[in-house]
Amino acid sequence: GKVLVSGANGFIAAWVVRALLEEGFAVRGAVRSVEKGAHLREVFASYDDRFELVVVPDIAKEGAFDEAVQGVDAIEHTASPFHLQADDPEVELIRPAIHGTVGILQSALKHGKAVKRVVVTSSCAAVLQVEKEPKTFSELDWNEQAPKEVAEMGRAASAITKYRASKTLAERAAWDFVEKHKSEIGWDLVVINPPFVFGPTIHHTATPDALNTSARQFYTMLTEESSPAVRHSGSCWVDVRDLGRAHVLALLRAEAGGERIIVSAGPFVWQDWLDAAPDSPKYQKGVPGAGKDAVHQIRYDASKSARVLGMTAYRTMAETARDSAADWEARGW
Ligand code: NDP
Repeated sequence: GKVLVSGANGFIAAWVVRALLEEGFAVRGAVRSVEKGAHLREVFASYDDRFELVVVPDIAKEGAFDEAVQGVDAIEHTASPFHLQADDPEVELIRPAIHGTVGILQSALKHGKAVKRVVVTSSCAAVLQVEKEPKTFSELDWNEQAPKEVAEMGRAASAITKYRASKTLAERAAWDFVEKHKSEIGWDLVVINPPFVFGPTIHHTATPDALNTSARQFYTMLTEESSPAVRHSGSCWVDVRDLGRAHVLALLRAEAGGERIIVSAGPFVWQDWLDAAPDSPKYQKGVPGAGKDAVHQIRYDASKSARVLGMTAYRTMAETARDSAADWEARGW
């Protein structure tokens, strides 16, 4: 079968494309311009006959994916703005996130005659809330907080809150769309909710500054000095290659249909990553071992990913740190 992947030149999407090609799928990658697809052509040259590109300049435009969905059996929708520089949350994050998501579903409804499944890359940002006590979140949890804060505070909301609101509202819109059109659609929806995504890159990225938000933060934390307070803060994480595989399993597993699924390797504080980094003067040391007793404010119950997707083993911090460092080394960073 053939799978449409939106935002194909992104950090996560490039690994989704590779995992799909490895599994034997043909892939149509959607990018905003021909130039943005050039690097992917090189990366996936060995699968040439099974990898093609389609240009979708503006995901938020009505009917943007009408042509791109034709002839594909499934869709992986990863394109969504992820940055922490937004001033106006509505214009810069929320609108493209919602319109991009609903737009691709609308195109699948109208023109995706062969589409059997749509996978949307949501986020743990649509799951977590900032609580006083440490908490383990599951797929039953929804982030009510971020959309409320953005509705009340607008531009004055924090950058991360604005992003979390965009992911929450876009995922809600996807489920609402499916509910509203359930009698007309020939496909079902799977939503993948990852926490922080780290690991080596295969998409085009010229400098560390040009990395996507999560990989850039990872690089910065490992290479630049930080305060103890920052080193003892953290979240949960997953390796980008495991996440790529999860997107394939989301297509292969019939029972995934209609499910939102958290894909998480576990909690971290940044000191743990400094401990896991290769022994080199390039990388910060912090205070080795000092993260071991840190309280993890946020954890996720990832048992559904094991049950439904068969994701029983995730890559370890040692593996992800080693392979990320090797990637930077290979790029001459
Ligand atoms: P990247 O920034 O590397 O990729 C984002 C992709 O979306 C790019 O292809 C980008 O295109 C495209 N995109 C963004 N905004 C628009 C827009 N307005 N119109 C068209 N295309 C757009 O980020 P990631 O790979 O990290 O993120 C991919 C997905 O995973 C996103 O949905 C993100 O929310 C989600 N996610 C990421 C996590 C992480 O830690 N990285 C954690 C949880 C979820 P272009 O390159 O042209 O800008």
